[in-house]
Amino acid sequence: MKAIIIGAGIGGMCTAIALKRCGIDSEVYEAVKEIKPVGAAISIWPNGVKCLNYLGMKDALRAIGGPMHYMAYKDYQSAETLTQFSLDALVQDSGERPYPVARSELQAMLLNTWGFDNVQFGKRVSRVEQQSDGVTAFFEDGSEAQGDLLIACDGTHSVVREHVLGYATERRYAGYVNWNGLVEIDESLAPANQWTTFVGEGKRVSLMPIAGNRFYFFFDVPLPKGLAEDRISLRDDLSRYFAGWAAPVQQLIAQLNPETTNRVEIHDIEPFAQLVKGRVALLGDAAHSTTPDIGQGGCAAMEDAVVLAMTLHSNSLGIEDALLRYQHKRADRVKDLVLKARKRCDVTHAKDPLLTAEWYAGLRQESGERIISGMCETIQGGPLA
Ligand code: FAD
Repeated sequence: MKAIIIGAGIGGMCTAIALKRCGIDSEVYEAVKEIKPVGAAISIWPNGVKCLNYLGMKDALRAIGGPMHYMAYKDYQSAETLTQFSLDALVQDSGERPYPVARSELQAMLLNTWGFDNVQFGKRVSRVEQQSDGVTAFFEDGSEAQGDLLIACDGTHSVVREHVLGYATERRYAGYVNWNGLVEIDESLAPANQWTTFVGEGKRVSLMPIAGNRFYFFFDVPLPKGLAEDRISLRDDLSRYFAGWAAPVQQLIAQLNPETTNRVEIHDIEPFAQLVKGRVALLGDAAHSTTPDIGQGGCAAMEDAVVLAMTLHSNSLGIEDALLRYQHKRADRVKDLVLKARKRCDVTHAKDPLLTAEWYAGLRQESGERIISGMCETIQGGPLA
């Protein structure tokens, strides 16, 4: 059996590694000549970590993961701590640590595990065609590839999605802009072993430790789509949006490097139940595009990859049957993640200001138990729980 994998991001690489582990050959085709991940870092929660462990990257992940042992919310103006707690209960309950990692290091780890030379770069798929016994991918350079099945890991703008669904999907603007980047750890910004978030006015500023003495930082601001803002205006834009916020936030704005800070308008896609058609399967953001509000998009791609490989490996009724079983196992899970993230997004970004004010007030009463229990519920839904 030979699989064609489209896209060498988190989803594509995890799929290639997972299929290999199950004795299935793959060819990986990636559109760009050099992968430059959008976004500075990513938090891999225990459900994703367990998938990477299963795929043989246990030690490699620990080497790039940050020491995130505590979590805290702070008031945006006074920097008063609203709640602060240890993440030990999350680790105990889920059986793994969370690991925030730099995206470039995660991508390098995945490429090294699979083999950089085993990815065909500069191959942008334009369409796919199914025959009774196989699938053909057509590339923009005029070349073609054939396999027994095709896994589309071509991200949120997937061109293969329409082939599977029979209609084009719209991306939905979630109503806020996210700026993210990396800075050296400085304890006057936040403790080095804590995920710290300043909240107020429907905005947030977050700092998460990753390896190499660096914080992954991000700013969220509810804004209209399509504003004419760029790197040149970045520091002024953030200073304006966060005027009156506490000293560590002002310090972060002064210390960040606008050249390496990303500005992203956040979108998701209404969940759909069909993830496969015949011998073609969607995986990762191609199958489910979520806002990053519960940090689960990449973790879900890792889960998809493990479930897909296990299903193909353990099935003797043929590829189409195995893909339908993959869909059956994943559709509700990924829908749940997208909708949970959307709900969290709306509360965090003051879609209904009253609900957000209630959330801020609730944080003052929070011991950590409720937040951790919500996270554990999400994590426990993974395939290796
Ligand atoms: P992608 O990473 O988009 O990879 C798709 C690949 O396919 C790319 O390399 C692309 O070049 C290639 N490709 C595209 N079109 C074609 C084509 N036609 N032919 C060939 N190749 C093609 N997730 C988490 O788990 N935790 C987090 O903390 C987190 N934080 C996030 C923060 C932000 C601001 C954002 C925007 C997302 C965040 N996510 C997080 C989500 C996560 O980044 C995505 O879910 C994940 O990258 C999806 O991986 P993927 O491989 O499906 O898609």
